[in-house]
Amino acid sequence: MIRMEKILKTRGLYETFPRKGGNAQGATHYCAGCGHGIIHKLVGEAMADLGIQDRTVAISPVGCAVFGYYYFDCGNIQAAHGRAAALASAVSRVEPNSVLISYQGDGDLASIGFNQTFQAANRGDRMAIIFVNNAVYGMTGGQLAPTTLAGQKTATSPMGRDTATAGYPVHVCELLDQLQAPVYIERCSVADAKRVMQARRAIRHALEIQRDGKGFALVEILSPGPTCLHMEPLACAEHFINEMEKEFPLGKLRDRAAEIPAATPDTTKYPTLNEFFGVKVGGDVKGSGPRADVGEIRVKVSGYGGQGVLRLGLLIAEGAQKAGCSASWYPSYGPEQRGGDSSCAVVISGAPVGSPVVAEPDLLVAMNQPALDRFTETVVPGGTILYEASVAKPPARHDVRLIPVPALAIADKAGNAQAANTALLAALAYHRLVPVAAEALQAAAEAGFTRKPAALKLNRQVFADTLKWCAEQA
Ligand code: SF4
Repeated sequence: MIRMEKILKTRGLYETFPRKGGNAQGATHYCAGCGHGIIHKLVGEAMADLGIQDRTVAISPVGCAVFGYYYFDCGNIQAAHGRAAALASAVSRVEPNSVLISYQGDGDLASIGFNQTFQAANRGDRMAIIFVNNAVYGMTGGQLAPTTLAGQKTATSPMGRDTATAGYPVHVCELLDQLQAPVYIERCSVADAKRVMQARRAIRHALEIQRDGKGFALVEILSPGPTCLHMEPLACAEHFINEMEKEFPLGKLRDRAAEIPAATPDTTKYPTLNEFFGVKVGGDVKGSGPRADVGEIRVKVSGYGGQGVLRLGLLIAEGAQKAGCSASWYPSYGPEQRGGDSSCAVVISGAPVGSPVVAEPDLLVAMNQPALDRFTETVVPGGTILYEASVAKPPARHDVRLIPVPALAIADKAGNAQAANTALLAALAYHRLVPVAAEALQAAAEAGFTRKPAALKLNRQVFADTLKWCAEQA
């Protein structure tokens, strides 16, 4: 009898991957047959087996691996396009005991980010770069990349890469091998099982070098990308073995790890950034400025793109600043907005704001059902949810204050449902959910309409109608 056992994920990866809307998923977002999933597993396994997870900071690129932070169970930073190596250099200096993994694709590393990589390698900065080469820009649809093969057809080279105009494939390993400082450079592939095992060994070795503080390591991995190369997965793997390896031969270009003694870990306690800048955080922190009475209040505003979500957050932050508080406003951009969701975070404080990120809001302003579905559970016990009353499923929390407001109906009645954000702003002011007077919030709202008298009139009307509605419910 065959006994079926659950194959557990490595401890180096999260057990489930909490992507959009807080939905935890068991699978990655990568296409079937793509090498990224395999490489993530190899990195996660090595991290866990070497016992370096708590010291590791993985830096995700822009590209298909942009969501690396959903997968690697360690410290995570997401870099601007091509800047992962520069970030790793910075973290290596401020956190001497950290283990840095810069995970980058060929578009990210070999084009816009090449100089950052080259300079980090030349300085011998302490990091392992996992360079995933699939010969095109994957996420954006398969455009020509620095590593695209001569003659290869891509979205931007439909007749094939013409070396007379587009140059030749860039060999990152060979270029970096000209430098003195790098400790270890190897090129591998994940196109079949034997190659995956070689890649596994190389990734482990690169991370051992980081564990021991020896310096710069780069592992290039030829990684099939069936979707972006418009191939069937098996044909794509064969293409990588038969064609890509002709241009990018596998093998170790250098390994000086045995010559270099392991560095003694520096156990000095380095200050956190908040300690360094003297910033206090937490709900009981009081400032010394004009609003020394105000503790930290974390607000999340969410709804559909086009509902004025970002503007509502901005008005709350501007109103708070007018009232003498410190305030930050942090919009959610990028891939998370593609589903039509929009959200922003506002932090208000009597002291300088330490971080603009809001994971557990004191106040959630939800303009639609998906916003409630996504953020209701994140609100701290004792917090408040102010939400559009017409949603199908009101939030089921008994440990927070729930305030439904028919913002859409009020705004619609006044002349335009798009002013629903103003209705929620007025309700927020009425219930004193932030330490800002209603007049200051209204002034912030009106400041944007000084040259639009009709819009100004409408928003004033909505603000007044909402205050009246709230008073009638009291
Ligand atoms: S687009 Fe290409 S690189 Fe990106 S996940 Fe799909 S196959 Fe992989």
